[in-house]
Amino acid sequence: MGERIDYADGRWVVPDHPIIPFIEGDGTGPDIWRAARRVFDAALAKASGKKRRVEWLEVLAGEKAFKATGHWLPDATLDQIRAHRVAIKGPLTTPVGGGIRSLNVTLRQTLDLYACIRPVRYFDGVPSPMREPQRLDVVIFRENIEDVYSGVEYRAGSAEADAVIAFLSERFGAKIRPGSAIGIKPMSKFGSQRLVVKAIQYALRTRRASVTLVHKGNIMKFTEGGFREWGYEVARERFGGRTVPEADAAGGSHDAAKVIIKDRITDAMFAQLVLRPDEYSVIAAPNLNGDLLSDAAAAQVGGLGLAPGGNVGDGYAVFEATHGTAPKYAGLDKVNPGSVILSGAMMFEELGWDDVASAIVRGLGEAIRSRRVTYDLARLMPDATEVSTSQFAECIIEHV
Ligand code: NAD
Repeated sequence: MGERIDYADGRWVVPDHPIIPFIEGDGTGPDIWRAARRVFDAALAKASGKKRRVEWLEVLAGEKAFKATGHWLPDATLDQIRAHRVAIKGPLTTPVGGGIRSLNVTLRQTLDLYACIRPVRYFDGVPSPMREPQRLDVVIFRENIEDVYSGVEYRAGSAEADAVIAFLSERFGAKIRPGSAIGIKPMSKFGSQRLVVKAIQYALRTRRASVTLVHKGNIMKFTEGGFREWGYEVARERFGGRTVPEADAAGGSHDAAKVIIKDRITDAMFAQLVLRPDEYSVIAAPNLNGDLLSDAAAAQVGGLGLAPGGNVGDGYAVFEATHGTAPKYAGLDKVNPGSVILSGAMMFEELGWDDVASAIVRGLGEAIRSRRVTYDLARLMPDATEVSTSQFAECIIEHV
């Protein structure tokens, strides 16, 4: 019998047989979920000698939910995820037409999943545009609630935009061209600091060397610049003994166990990831910067096909494949299950089951190294043999 995962005093309380809800997803979702679940069960058995096991609980969303219940996102699904705290999902079709709640947005908002986490690492053998893609190994923590995600926008020429322009110019003497569109990006100290705290805690737990705050504070002094200032502040106030600002770490005389806190202007950060990737390990960024950086970094190591993602809050977390449903390959046992499999590895790492996570990552790495890969990689890798989704899973299991 499975038990629920709990959360107390800022920590997950994980039983040996946790119940974890899953959404298999639309299109190729069932193909990749089937493969992923076998890999997870094999890694769990291998790493824990059968002591730990996950009781997978299917919850419905997307097309499968619509067929069964008439709703794309039944309330029961949200209730189950809330009750069990940690869930994993495959890709869902975004129905065309208005009025339908997106699961991702709904989960993010109702469970306050304020950190969008994207690890980006290279797997030996994957085709990449870079000469030394293995030098990039970062985990990006992107703020998931504020900034442009809670932005307010008014169309050019609208009564709202004109009223905001009039207000700002009359009250504060702001100079805005009449008829402009208006966008407002709110960023708070609370929202920025809790994201930076998550990034620092991760760096400390996984012994990563640094956390880099990425911001455009040279232009947007109070929003993006605030992110930088609040980040350094919370590092000093909450982790003073275990972190050190880069300025004080110059010359290498600091305690090597301390996490170095750096900051970079967004545009410089893009250049740094290309030119000096090994100087970065954990990145904390506001919403828009983090969005741009995540995909650019993933492209450097060979694209989004293997990129996993997690949305994490305090006591709730949802992990997911970052690609879509690839509907033309649905049911063909053809597509790459790597993204959802690595999302599972992230999930186990978050729950403190690092041994299971490393077994999965090792298995996937070895499977790619053996050059028996799904079509998307096979067509780009010299001397590779194309295998099906399920054969690829078997190959991973051989190596976990
Ligand atoms: P997509 O990611 O499904 O496909 C883009 C390309 O990548 C296609 O060529 C596809 O065949 C390929 N691809 C995707 N996943 C792959 C995999 N695992 N292995 C190999 N190749 C893969 O994006 P799209 O075509 O823009 O969207 C299709 C549907 O997915 C839409 O309904 C969209 O709304 C939805 N979508 C969902 C999510 C999500 O649930 N997180 C994310 C993106 C798109």
